[in-house]
Amino acid sequence: MSDIAQLRKNFPTLTQTIEGHPLVYLDSGATSQKPQAVIDAINLFYTKNNANVHRGLHTLSETATTQYENVREKLADFLDVNATECVWTSGATHGINLVAAGLTSQLTSNDVILISALEHHANIVPWQQLAIRTGARLEVIPVDAQGVIDTNVAITTIQKWQPKVFACSHASNTLGNIQDVKLLVAKAKQVGAITLVDGAQAFLHLRPNLRQLDCDFYVLSAHKALGPTGLGVLYGKYELLNALPVYQTGGEMIDTVSFANTTFRQAPAKFEPGTPNISAVLGFGAALDYLNAIDFQQMHQYEQALFVYLVEQLSSIEGVRLYGDLVNNIGTVSFSYKSEHHYDLAMLLNSYGVAVRSGHHCTQPLMQVLNLDGTIRVSLAFYNNKDDIDCFISALQNSIELIE
Ligand code: PLP
Repeated sequence: MSDIAQLRKNFPTLTQTIEGHPLVYLDSGATSQKPQAVIDAINLFYTKNNANVHRGLHTLSETATTQYENVREKLADFLDVNATECVWTSGATHGINLVAAGLTSQLTSNDVILISALEHHANIVPWQQLAIRTGARLEVIPVDAQGVIDTNVAITTIQKWQPKVFACSHASNTLGNIQDVKLLVAKAKQVGAITLVDGAQAFLHLRPNLRQLDCDFYVLSAHKALGPTGLGVLYGKYELLNALPVYQTGGEMIDTVSFANTTFRQAPAKFEPGTPNISAVLGFGAALDYLNAIDFQQMHQYEQALFVYLVEQLSSIEGVRLYGDLVNNIGTVSFSYKSEHHYDLAMLLNSYGVAVRSGHHCTQPLMQVLNLDGTIRVSLAFYNNKDDIDCFISALQNSIELIE
């Protein structure tokens, strides 16, 4: 993107020095940095407009409610779905747990829940727990030795198990691989599955159109897409969403309460108990405005070109081994260096101001397939530039010299 230097100025965190070096932030997969507009929106709420939503007649409360609900509309437009199908959650993890808990009465010991081997723990453990509660079997689509799902293998596995529930990430947090979820969702639906796509990593980079994707549920985390922490979204096709039983109770999700009987509101309110994270929703609204102002195709091409450069540079270092699908990728790569421990290299990189993530990245089953206990993960976003990659590569070369 031609105006990348200009865009970078919108991200105050990127201008600091760490350990005496300009910060090189390559950990957007963990959380994205926030543009000033997002910080300002949160600040404005607390300095001027602070009030609770849905429960006051006074001006501040009405303004807060309108703004809060407007962001839901904005999000729905962004995803190309209806606002009634978008539930505010605390994050992707919360959204998956809500759906998995809600499906308990729909599963029996004759059913199969199908996930993939590269899922984040947040898209494994809630299903494992659902399997334990219902007696259903948890089955897994395998990955190859590089950690990649072969779409044909995935389709065969879906057809073999005829799952009642199919849950798969849109993009891997550890390897960046993009799954062909549109096709897999269609195949899973053909065998009658309820489908959930974990979009925590994909949302920022791919801006999915959920109407076209046609999954039953999609989850995301605002903080991975320029927004604040503590906020996520559960999208659900209205009939299926509303058919789920209540998850947590109390507050505005209630319709009427008596000691004899309590009734609940319809979705999305049904799944939003207690006081919501109002400031985060308003901050996320600013993040969506920010994204809407950037041409998606340009951003995507820019990120992809940067990723190609990153992979080229990393591959040129002898002893570096890269994992995953390096073509069909959101801009995230995991690597190891000879038998060096990922933790040591990541600490050394930090001493040069380079922020990467090391460890199993909450994908221990994937690490078992790769026969590793962890990797170093570099995850890009559109606010990164070629200089970031050059600084990272030079810091990596220096770090390698130090440990050898
Ligand atoms: N799914 C994937 C693919 C992720 O990368 C993450 C977080 O890293 C999650 C789920 C969980 O997101 P959160 O911690 O925001 O709930």
